[in-house]
Amino acid sequence: MSARILVVDDIEANVRLLEAKLSAEYYDVLTAPDGVTALAIAAAEKPDIILLDVMMPGLDGFEVCRRLKDDPETRHIPVVLVTALDGRADRITGLEAGADEFLTKPIDDVMLFARVRSLTRLKLIIDELRQREASGRRMGVIAGAASRLGGTGGRVLIVDDNERQALRVLAELQREHRPVVESDPEKAILTARGPVDLVIVNATAKGFDGLRFAAAVRSDEATRHLPILAIVDVDERARLVKALEIGVNDILTKPIDPQELSARARTQIKHKRYTDFLRDNLDQSLELAVTDQLTGLHNRRYMVGQLAALVTRATHGGDPVAALMIDIDHFKKINDGFGHDVGDEVLREFAVRLASNVRAVDLPCRYGGEEFTVIMPDTRLEDAHRIAERIRRHVAGSPFRVLGGSELLTVTISIGVAATTGEGDKPEALLKRADAAVYEAKAAGRNVVVARAA
Ligand code: GH3
Ligand code: MG
Ligand code: MG
Repeated sequence: MSARILVVDDIEANVRLLEAKLSAEYYDVLTAPDGVTALAIAAAEKPDIILLDVMMPGLDGFEVCRRLKDDPETRHIPVVLVTALDGRADRITGLEAGADEFLTKPIDDVMLFARVRSLTRLKLIIDELRQREASGRRMGVIAGAASRLGGTGGRVLIVDDNERQALRVLAELQREHRPVVESDPEKAILTARGPVDLVIVNATAKGFDGLRFAAAVRSDEATRHLPILAIVDVDERARLVKALEIGVNDILTKPIDPQELSARARTQIKHKRYTDFLRDNLDQSLELAVTDQLTGLHNRRYMVGQLAALVTRATHGGDPVAALMIDIDHFKKINDGFGHDVGDEVLREFAVRLASNVRAVDLPCRYGGEEFTVIMPDTRLEDAHRIAERIRRHVAGSPFRVLGGSELLTVTISIGVAATTGEGDKPEALLKRADAAVYEAKAAGRNVVVARAA
């Protein structure tokens, strides 16, 4: 998992050192000697992570960070602030400026790579969500709205059997969140599946293995997106590295600094709300992109994509794929006689009858207008013909109730059936044969099924 990292520091030797360390681990490194250059490179090159020195003449690291996070084009790039060893106040200012992480000088290699790896993961998720959004402009709007989500009022689950420590964390977080304490990891996992925004786990708990608990949260389908903050002893290097490897999002070292605790909790909750918001919005737009709004069936675009994959499999030694092309007979007469809304009602009712007459693995779709297709994996022409006949009967056999049941309409359909023939067959050719078969069915008087071998 490589990444492009922008290193910003006014001291040349620092830049060179970081560049050498990161390049040795196959990261791509960009460098900038000051804040202004850093902002320009960030905007032009869109690095995956920015390592930003705090102490710089001109624009300091805080200001650069603030500007990066204000700009919709760069705000999704994780920023790691590099502070002095005793820079506790700096770290808090940094998190408040929107920094995602910080490293202290002199930079420890293990911490450097652990942080970089964990942020690369976050960036991958954000990028994947961004890619799913076809329109970049809409993404900008969504990301803008998401970035205004705050980091307070979070539901925090504290998993710790050290009562004194747990109560101290609880008291601090109660000032702006809704924290609860759980000392039993079995119960904690159940709580985590409910509405929780952040899990804080004591990695050095006495009665249970905190890292095992963190790993369980990561692997559970219902909780794998939850941010985890692990409380670790500074001296326990191995556990610290292990925690980050498991996928813990952040580390809090003991003795716990209350201000740092609340700043880190806020950052994690904000990240979670940001990625949740993106995920929800993009899932919804993804849904819109593949679904026909009138009938709820899949649309043509989705069908074409699925069909291509199924045909490839079928023509490389798999079972045949069959396609039904269905056209409602004299649909124009329904529109003309009863109005467009009744026409729509018929389309919806037809979609229900169609979907309830095919197997779960089949793909009923609205091809466009009053034309529908059903794609049937692992189905031979004869079997598809039989299913088509059943659908035809089911439509013609009982009239459609429209206008609240006050009107009964007899609707019939014509169906063309085709199936893949083996090596060399193409999705377009398959649909064309099904389409030609519909023509034959119409010519034969409608309310007819015609199957067409190649
Ligand atoms: P045939 O038996 O030859 O298929 O005749 P037809 O009238 O069904 O076929 P034609 O293709 O001439 O007409 C289809 C009509 O479907 C024309 C169009 O206005 C109507 N239509 C297309 N989409 C919709 C829709 O979403 N809602 C409604 N109500 N009508 C639609
Ligand atoms: Mg038509
Ligand atoms: Mg028609």
